[in-house]
Amino acid sequence: MENFDLHNHSTCSDGLLSPTQLIELAARTGAEAIALTDHDTTAGLEEAGAAAKRLGLHWVPGVEISVSWGDTTLHIVGLNIDPTAQPIVDGLRSIRDGRLGRAERVAAALKGMGIDGALEGALARAPNESMLSRTHFARFLVETGAVKDTQRAFDKYLGKGKPAYVAHQWAGLADAVRWIKGSGGIAVLAHPGRYDLKPWARGEMLDEFKRVGGEAIEVITGSHRPEQYAMWKRTADEYGFLASRGADYHGPGESPFEPGKLPPLPETLTPVWSKWRH
Ligand code: AMP
Ligand code: MN
Ligand code: MN
Ligand code: MN
Repeated sequence: MENFDLHNHSTCSDGLLSPTQLIELAARTGAEAIALTDHDTTAGLEEAGAAAKRLGLHWVPGVEISVSWGDTTLHIVGLNIDPTAQPIVDGLRSIRDGRLGRAERVAAALKGMGIDGALEGALARAPNESMLSRTHFARFLVETGAVKDTQRAFDKYLGKGKPAYVAHQWAGLADAVRWIKGSGGIAVLAHPGRYDLKPWARGEMLDEFKRVGGEAIEVITGSHRPEQYAMWKRTADEYGFLASRGADYHGPGESPFEPGKLPPLPETLTPVWSKWRH
């Protein structure tokens, strides 16, 4: 198999490596093709693309869009998008604008639990106000000793249903897919095994994703436990989705797989990159 890794983050969203550092790592780990898919921003694509070209990696410009589906947040990865196309530029801007207001409410909730300075702490770890992520709060909570690691920050404070969780309205599912397709890209459902949905709701979500133009799902991802791979392989077969593979790498010590180090896709699946590479 060609070693494609189609889901990774940089300091332009909530990753720990710069776009250049990420591509340099991918070159060292043996990835042959790499995508940068920061949350709701394309700010790192130019730098990462230049590094990929310099190092001889096949380059896939991407993005990971936050979507509200009922009260569940879904992530839709767009691959091979043109980041200058108007639908993606306007669409991403419309959802980024809400992040500062949400972060203020997260910080207020933490303050109510005796944790001061969280907004400043998160901001100091984020690229800018419009990219403020729960990950930046999680790192603040770890570094100030409130919790031992970022996972515990989500389990205790930031995860859905926890005291500092703030519900937020992101893009609609059909909107996100439309922005991606309108910018020349392919829409991929990120880490489908991570959403807390009952089987019937999961079926409805997959049906709707397919109906609005979604073409692929991630099967092998750093955000699935290995025992989940088989179920999502079956789902790709059942729905006729193309399959994607990506580490969802955020940085040293925070992700189970480095870029390009995941197991290969099951051989019977059609990889999403068959759409653009023959
Ligand atoms: P946000 O877009 O600000 O809601 O932040 C979402 C990001 O938080 C995800 O992309 C992950 O990087 C991280 N995240 C979400 N849930 C967890 C979790 N349970 N454990 C660790 N990281 C998480
Ligand atoms: Mn993230
Ligand atoms: Mn995600
Ligand atoms: Mn991700």
